[in-house]
Amino acid sequence: MQVLKFGGTSVANAENIKKVAAIVRKAATQSRVVVVISAMSGITDQILLAGKKAADGDESYQQCLSEVESRHLQAVKALIPITQQSSLLSNIKQHCNELEDFCNGIFLLKEFSARIRDKIMSYGELMNALIVGHYFESIGLDAHSQDAREWIQTNDQFGKAGVDFSVTNLNISRHFEKAGRQITVVPGFVSRTASGITTTLGRGGSDYTAAIIGAALAVEAVEIWTDVSGMMTADPRLVQQPRIIPQISYQEAMELSHFGAKVIYPPTIQPLRKKNIACWIKNTFAPEDAGTVITNHTEVEKGSVRGISSMNQIALLSLEGSGMVGVPGFSKRLFETLAQQEINVILITQSSSEHSICVAIEEQAAQRAAHAVSISFQHEIEMGKVEPAVLETGLSILALVGDNMKSHPGVAGRMFGALGRNGVNIRAIAQGSSERNISAVIATTDVKKALNVLHESFFEKSLKQINLFLIGAGNVGSKLLSQLHQQSTYLEDKLRLQINVVGLANSRTMVFQEDGIDLSNWQQALEHGQPMHLETFVSNMLNQNLRNAVFADVTAHESVASIYEELLTKSVSVVACNKIAAASSYENYTRLKTCAGDHNCQFLFETNVGAGLPIIGTLNDLLRSGDNIQRMEAVLSGTLNFVFNHYDGTIPFSQVVRQAQDEGYTEPDPRLDLSGTDVMRKIMILARESGAVLEMESIENHGFLPASCLTGSVSDFYEALEKEESHFKAIWEQAQAKQQKLKFVATYSKNENDTNGSARVGLQGVGPEHPFYHLYGKDNVVLFYTDRYAIQPLTIKGAGAGAEVTASGVFADIIRTAR
Ligand code: ADP
Ligand code: ASP
Ligand code: MG
Repeated sequence: MQVLKFGGTSVANAENIKKVAAIVRKAATQSRVVVVISAMSGITDQILLAGKKAADGDESYQQCLSEVESRHLQAVKALIPITQQSSLLSNIKQHCNELEDFCNGIFLLKEFSARIRDKIMSYGELMNALIVGHYFESIGLDAHSQDAREWIQTNDQFGKAGVDFSVTNLNISRHFEKAGRQITVVPGFVSRTASGITTTLGRGGSDYTAAIIGAALAVEAVEIWTDVSGMMTADPRLVQQPRIIPQISYQEAMELSHFGAKVIYPPTIQPLRKKNIACWIKNTFAPEDAGTVITNHTEVEKGSVRGISSMNQIALLSLEGSGMVGVPGFSKRLFETLAQQEINVILITQSSSEHSICVAIEEQAAQRAAHAVSISFQHEIEMGKVEPAVLETGLSILALVGDNMKSHPGVAGRMFGALGRNGVNIRAIAQGSSERNISAVIATTDVKKALNVLHESFFEKSLKQINLFLIGAGNVGSKLLSQLHQQSTYLEDKLRLQINVVGLANSRTMVFQEDGIDLSNWQQALEHGQPMHLETFVSNMLNQNLRNAVFADVTAHESVASIYEELLTKSVSVVACNKIAAASSYENYTRLKTCAGDHNCQFLFETNVGAGLPIIGTLNDLLRSGDNIQRMEAVLSGTLNFVFNHYDGTIPFSQVVRQAQDEGYTEPDPRLDLSGTDVMRKIMILARESGAVLEMESIENHGFLPASCLTGSVSDFYEALEKEESHFKAIWEQAQAKQQKLKFVATYSKNENDTNGSARVGLQGVGPEHPFYHLYGKDNVVLFYTDRYAIQPLTIKGAGAGAEVTASGVFADIIRTAR
């Protein structure tokens, strides 16, 4: 004997029912088969809606019912030859009329009790089992339909009736003792009380019907046929890359399903486990797939976590107070109060000081629970021994399940570490002494992110996904996007890293795509994007609440720099090419750094100094390893270098500056470079990174631009440059006379009496003996004089401007966030 159960989607319409027939036909060649049938998917909900509407006096319940009727009639017409339809059609019509009569009654009485709810819900399964049974017969299978209510006897707990196994087992085994058809089709979900009133086994209860029948007949295995190829490591609707679990223990399956893995109804496991009957989960739409088998023995596989599930609509009720310390019976009173209200406690935590006890319950019972508890503890609350109960809603439970977790230390650490790094706040934690389940209560808005974070951490060790939001698709931004595109295979293969650009904007438009924008064609995606609006970009970014989220600012806008703090507080790492934040007030700079530290994310800005050159990274490495910066000397402006390397008095200074701008080395306003302001920002950032508290105002600037060049627009500036040609020529000639080259040098040095040290920038002539003499093109150089590099400085030199190298620096920072 075999028991096969087919769920709602498997029997949702004629086309699917034909697939079911093929599976049953094959099984029936082996032995007799009991086929348990669900209602067509959505029908139970539709009937329930009709009932609710009728009870609310809303006449559109009729419409719901006619949809129910037409789906069934349609299936009959599509499955059964016309000549054989009439008796089944009239049978279905009769069921629908009864159903309508009950709903009319609900409408008239405005009463919708659990008892009548069970009655009307039963029609979905009853009608569908009839249809499937007739269809099997019509295609020549040795099949018939039976009303399983006659076998399964329950108490009268409507909605979730408890089975009387002694009567039920006897009924079922007696029925099958007799010789009968090869295939018996029965409705799942439905049952009866001893006095013959229809009950149901709870939502999703057809699985349970199959288990009850399987256990009564002591079959070898029960097969649950559904729309996925087995039980998965996480809910496939929430996690991107869940895996099928080939084999799982009864306990593990029970924990996972209890905490939300809808694929199997939790009570199903118990009767099977008792008789050691294997339960297969198979896919009706891919019958060849191996599926999952739930059995007694668990093979220790690699990894100790079997699956992750989640349960929404949870509330936390906390009771706190010094009056609770050492008072026996306190928890008992709390649980009794809840039990009297028939409120199920899902999770409990109690602090060892016994000051507080906290229970997770279903959200729909939250108010009732709080009210009952406040009455029960009224006396203690009035005496100030206990605080009024605190209720929190909008919560979910996350459960990590695995029989072997107990033999693997560090699972909890890894779980909470991964959640913490992604800013998921944990409201309560519970770990049973069986250590088969670690549960955490978190905000429902964090569930999807948390599941993905944990799934990645426990099952996708091989590939980590970074979700990147990027503003600025100009010169540097577009180079960055093409580097990301080009390197994607390398990153996946060598670093096991996948960078998905999930949000992208330029100054005009923005696009979002959770599974990643196609980087071979981002320009088009952006063209068809919605108008760019920074606040909307930020709220989209935060609402998506993705794991390993990184924001890259490839603009030079103050408004964009102003969003970092909000992002960092939500654990979104920030990679800034934009210098504004790191060069703003010291107070803002440290606040952002602290904020990143406090929220387990990173604020990185390597490209703020020397574009892609590893200057800040090296400085940080020196400090981390215990070295001390004594002095830094640097040429940090690609633009100024370019200008003074190209200017030799033959072509006008203004023209050289224009060329630097055309080649993309300058800031949008070249005066930021030429005035030395940009260099001041850079040396200040380096000084700050080395520990100094420094502001722009305290940096000396020995600039070379005449005052006339500093006012007005960019074109005014170029005009002024032309007029001042003799000024620039004179500077050049002076240096030339001493056989010196002109370099715009930034210096920072620590003083003995002032740990913050001092910084200056200015144009300087350097002779051939100076390390800066041979500095060409747009190169930058930094000399670090430290305790360890006291005589010969540690030197970093190379291209310090240009879109390609800057983009690569941003790229490196993005990867750093993942490390
Ligand atoms: P049926 O109608 O066949 O009983 P259900 O809808 O009750 O099917 O259960 C199957 C669904 O459960 C799947 O389509 C899947 O979306 C969902 N599900 C949730 N968690 C899991 C999980 N861990 N593994 C597999 N499926 C899951
Ligand atoms: N039809 C019922 C429900 O939707 C039972 C089942 O499908 O298992 O809850
Ligand atoms: Mg189900």
